[in-house]
Amino acid sequence: MTNLQEYNEFMSVARRVVIVTHYKPDADALGSSLGLSAFLKKDGHRVTVITPSDYPAFLNWLPGNDEVVIFSEAVAEKVKSLVTEAEIIFCLDFSALSRINSIGEMIQKATGKKVLIDHHLEPEKFADFEQWNPKAASTAGLVYELIIELGERVKIDNAIADCLYAGLLTDTGGFRHNNTRREEFMIASDLVSLGANPTRVSKLIYDTNTLERLRLMGYVLSEKLVVLPEYKTAYMTLSQEELKKFGSQSGDTEGFVNYGLSIEGIHLSVMIYERKDEIKLSFRSLGEFSVNELARKYFNGGGHRNASGGSSTDSLGVTLEKFLSILPEYQEKILSARV
Ligand code: 5GP
Ligand code: MN
Repeated sequence: MTNLQEYNEFMSVARRVVIVTHYKPDADALGSSLGLSAFLKKDGHRVTVITPSDYPAFLNWLPGNDEVVIFSEAVAEKVKSLVTEAEIIFCLDFSALSRINSIGEMIQKATGKKVLIDHHLEPEKFADFEQWNPKAASTAGLVYELIIELGERVKIDNAIADCLYAGLLTDTGGFRHNNTRREEFMIASDLVSLGANPTRVSKLIYDTNTLERLRLMGYVLSEKLVVLPEYKTAYMTLSQEELKKFGSQSGDTEGFVNYGLSIEGIHLSVMIYERKDEIKLSFRSLGEFSVNELARKYFNGGGHRNASGGSSTDSLGVTLEKFLSILPEYQEKILSARV
């Protein structure tokens, strides 16, 4: 971490701490936040984890989940006072304050110290302390590395290890994506020796479906998956109506985009779906072709080179048209991408 000594001195007395992660948090966002929270509590800090929105039910098992404050208008004042009164605010798994909606403005105005722990490309500079590494596969891994840097490995218990392992597991796609370095295996190995249970975590995250989600997946794959061979691209769209028809819940579409990329010869996959108030896009690509650049340029988003997201305020149809219209610009790069 940058300014580690200063950080250490600051944290040598019990602090009021807020940990914030991104909108619609995934297992890395929530796992790293809850792991860090449990760790900080061991030193007597008073910690609150705040999420800007709800998250999938398959993350509810994460230790500490019950204490998460989920932002809504009903708790806006409470969140505001937590952020305003915090002596230190940790921002985990995102690096653009716009990704956390109105909480971003609260943080900008807040006088507490700010810590960025993240692995996304092109971070905003707003933090006093940074644990940032775009090569790291997960924010959970960065939290682990921070704990090690602090010489506090002994404080990692089963619960913390499970939280961090969950983030590491999912952001590497089960140790399969090209962000899986030697370090990821080393961290996983150490977390297991500290009590993480890989079988249980995998079961809870990957092999726990509702029947509705499986039916939705069947529908998407059989009816909604479109392949454009001339662009080596696959796309899927889902409207609110379709999502409702299948009784789907927050997070049910997670991972669908990967099926597009798994088709032989496909180098770019996108999933475009309707949320209540916006259109969400999920991009996956192979090799050198950067969806981070595409998402940033056209869809107000970003992420990593091969896994990015974005959003749009246009309709689902207009968003799809826009996506299709930019394909010629990227055609050459998409076609020449290699694993
Ligand atoms: P997913 O497609 O799984 O939602 O996200 C893939 C990656 O892109 C994740 O690392 C996620 O944090 C990032 N990401 C998703 N949506 C957005 C967005 O709207 N803006 C930015 N900057 N990053 C995003
Ligand atoms: Mn992450």
